[in-house]
Amino acid sequence: MHRLYETEDIAVFWNSEKCRHAKRCVTGCPEAFDITRKPWIHIDEAPAAKVWKAVSACPTGALTLTYTHDVRIVFDEEKHRSIALYQEQQIGECDFEETPKGWNIYHTEVDPVFEGKGIAKRLVYCILQEAERSKREVIPTCSFAAKILKE
Ligand code: SF4
Repeated sequence: MHRLYETEDIAVFWNSEKCRHAKRCVTGCPEAFDITRKPWIHIDEAPAAKVWKAVSACPTGALTLTYTHDVRIVFDEEKHRSIALYQEQQIGECDFEETPKGWNIYHTEVDPVFEGKGIAKRLVYCILQEAERSKREVIPTCSFAAKILKE
């Protein structure tokens, strides 16, 4: 399971397949990571610095994070894509198509000015979590998306 949690300041990625339930996140920041709740991650309920420290302590890489760099990620179901917006201007997108086997992510692109800020990963995660919520498989032909899926 892949999940993307975002506030104005930070974006947190969670890959359940890598989670070994060591609970470092829970002890480090119980306001944001509470396994008695569903969903169990609420990064908006703790200071960003505290969340950052707790995520950095995750021993397996199940939790990772980045700054948002004032970029918003939006799922555009109608157009089969996620888009990245900076000051309401589109600066990136990730596209998929429906196939009999599932969603094929075939294209991910971010404006070169915004490269290296984790935006492409956020775009892919947005689609991964929507696919999982829709109970659809993801079969990426986009090499970047395939890499993220394996991480
Ligand atoms: S610290 Fe990482 S491995 Fe441990 S429970 Fe949290 S997410 Fe899972």
